[in-house]
Amino acid sequence: MPAGRRCPGERCPVVLTGGERYCPKHAREYELRRGTSTQRGYGYRHQKARRSWQARIDAGEIIRCSLCGLRVTGTNWHLDHTPDRMAYRGPAHVACNTSDGGRRGAAASNAKVD
Ligand SMILES: [Zn+2]
Ligand SMILES: [Zn+2]
Repeated sequence: MPAGRRCPGERCPVVLTGGERYCPKHAREYELRRGTSTQRGYGYRHQKARRSWQARIDAGEIIRCSLCGLRVTGTNWHLDHTPDRMAYRGPAHVACNTSDGGRRGAAASNAKVD
């Protein structure tokens, strides 16, 4: 009997022999379901950076969204980073940050207040 098991993906015929959890296709889907790296895996450095921005926002400092340029208030914001994830650009509205994808740039030119 071959040492392998079927990929748990729906109706997936792929037999995994290397100890993987999913075939490449379903591994990708699984990663997408868990959320992109914008929602996980930042750790301490991210938390620390976020806290220091939050303190400035709480203190009433005008902090502008790094994507649309409008003011960020409250706690409902994401810490935006450069595309290579090597540095943080600063707070961004959740809506701006999650619509990121190909719309960076469009967000800045189509900024509207609401
Ligand atoms: Zn599969
Ligand atoms: Zn914004």
